Amino acid sequence: MNHNDTPAPNADGAPPTSAFFVLHHGLPRQGPGSDAVTRQLLDLAGPLPERPRILDLGCGPGRSALLLAAETGGHVTAVDLHRPFLGELTAAAARQGLESRIRALRWSMDRLPFPDHGFDVIWAEGSVYNIGFDVALRLWRRLLAPGGVLVVTEAEWSTPTPSPQVRAFWDTHYSLRTHDGNARAAQEAGYRIGAYLPLPDEDWWDEYYTPLTERAATADPEYPGMVKALAALHEEIDMRRRYGADYRYAGYVLHPAPVPVDERTTMTWTTRPETPGDIDAIRAVNLAAFPTALEADLVEALRADRAAWIDGLSVVAAAEDGTVAGYALLSRCHVDGEPALALGPCAVLPAYQKQGAGSAAIRTALAAARDMGENLVLVLGHPEYYPRFGFVPASGFGIRPPFDVPDEAMMALTLDPAVPVPTGLIRYPAAFGV
Ligand code: SAH
Repeated sequence: MNHNDTPAPNADGAPPTSAFFVLHHGLPRQGPGSDAVTRQLLDLAGPLPERPRILDLGCGPGRSALLLAAETGGHVTAVDLHRPFLGELTAAAARQGLESRIRALRWSMDRLPFPDHGFDVIWAEGSVYNIGFDVALRLWRRLLAPGGVLVVTEAEWSTPTPSPQVRAFWDTHYSLRTHDGNARAAQEAGYRIGAYLPLPDEDWWDEYYTPLTERAATADPEYPGMVKALAALHEEIDMRRRYGADYRYAGYVLHPAPVPVDERTTMTWTTRPETPGDIDAIRAVNLAAFPTALEADLVEALRADRAAWIDGLSVVAAAEDGTVAGYALLSRCHVDGEPALALGPCAVLPAYQKQGAGSAAIRTALAAARDMGENLVLVLGHPEYYPRFGFVPASGFGIRPPFDVPDEAMMALTLDPAVPVPTGLIRYPAAFGV
């Protein structure tokens, strides 16, 4: 039940494959489910755009990712923390001729380097428990394109009064709720429930517990940790046998609900690429937002550098009265010689800070860059601020800055998850002076 990808290192420092994964490798699925249910959920999620962009989170060895790619004609970005599962998926995709339409990436589902609104479908079968249903639903909402849909399966009580034994078992792993509880949580996280599909009992067995039981029967008890892993597995399966009527897996097809009026920011910002008339205001915003003129001068030096400046990616956010209050700039940099974008400076007039002007400018700049076919974006900044746009530590991509900064301050984002990202050293334009 507990997929933990951080086994203790051996004495020689090499991580062993945990007994848990020895038991689980090579199985069709890593949780209750079936192709039939994946298909039914896909039906209930539709109609979808012609070649939907799909994000499969906690994809495991990728049974659903493969089906989704094959049957929708879309592109699947499949994410899991456990590398060997990603390897199994990549190999299966190649065997099925789907390699150009499935990308397997190692990220944590709670820190995804993807921009807002980039996916038509988010799929998570048997994996949402890793970060919790409510957290997942809130975090993933921003990733859905307009009209997008989120499909998750989750374990839940099928009775409000489960037997104390099975309740005690689940409580040590993951607190289940009833359907009502999950439905309410989905609504509170900002979704409308489009469809609800309880999974049949066979979906626990045919491709999950039955092959696992067969595997367990031949497992080597001498393998480090195996005795414990087998005991945990037998307990889990025993619970299902004895109390299967008390809990089930269920699929939820969720559509983002419009944000209620009282939760919207009260300010509305008009964002646009800079025009010649904005240049003085941009300088003023940067002078006011930073202690020195460095950033204001940097913008001007970049504007004069034809190799670094990209028309359309210097964006202002104006208040209703026309005041240019927020600013964001993307300029050309390189990673390992490949083109990328550097975000910065981002600035807001002090009187307008914390009202969404900066975010509005950044989101518009990122969307414009995506429309231009750009992919990798780097930012050096506050690790509390930039993850809301999808930035994660650049080190996760194997990208490093040419200066010493705390790992979490150098961040990266990919605008098109279908495109590979270069790794290596960032080279900034000369104007940055680094
Ligand atoms: N969807 C697959 C796998 C479900 S098992 C299927 O139905 O077969 C749950 C998966 O979540 C495992 O593959 C595990 O490696 C992965 N996982 C666990 N924590 C994760 C995290 N934080 N981010 C991404 N994947 C995670």
